[in-house]
Amino acid sequence: MIDATPRRLWLEQHYADGEDARHFTFRLDAPHAGDGAVRPGQFFMLCVPGVGEAPFTYVRPPDPDGSFSALVRRMGRVTDALFACAPGALLGYRGPFGHGWPHDLPAGSRVLAVAGGCGLAPLASMIEDACAPDAP
Ligand SMILES: Cc1cc2nc3c(=O)[nH]c(=O)nc-3n(C[C@H](O)[C@H](O)[C@H](O)COP(=O)(O)OP(=O)(O)OC[C@H]3O[C@@H](n4cnc5c(N)ncnc54)[C@H](O)[C@@H]3O)c2cc1C
Repeated sequence: MIDATPRRLWLEQHYADGEDARHFTFRLDAPHAGDGAVRPGQFFMLCVPGVGEAPFTYVRPPDPDGSFSALVRRMGRVTDALFACAPGALLGYRGPFGHGWPHDLPAGSRVLAVAGGCGLAPLASMIEDACAPDAP
């Protein structure tokens, strides 16, 4: 069962990608083995304390240090508050959620990824997996 209590998450850094979108790098305060099991296409709930939470998709899933990234488009309450945060800010995290993109494709499969605009970002880790030397 998934624990509904947010975990501590640090905002490590961010950089702009267009007027209203930013790449954010986060780091889980106390990463554990289960964090490494995140699959491309899954999403997490990001909590900005005192404001609220919203779902975002991993662009790069958590590494062994708990560091991961997401591309966020500024839309409303939560994303306005996130864009106002400086590196080092303490946030909340719940996840992962969802089933992710199809995986375990038969050997030799050819993959066609179709996306528009910043919708490409959540496909990044799936494309990287499909291009890895040990991919099927
Ligand atoms: C599974 C999933 C994955 C996602 N992944 C990403 C991702 O990787 N990157 C990303 O940028 N986004 C992603 N999203 C979308 C993101 O979660 C939303 O943009 C989220 O609502 C932003 O929260 P917010 O509080 O900033 O905006 P909100 O305040 O919730 O506003 C969102 C929109 O609703 C409008 N709105 C707000 N209140 C009202 C109202 N009372 N009446 C009418 N309209 C209103 C706002 O004007 C705005 O257009 C994902 C969503 C889902 C479901």
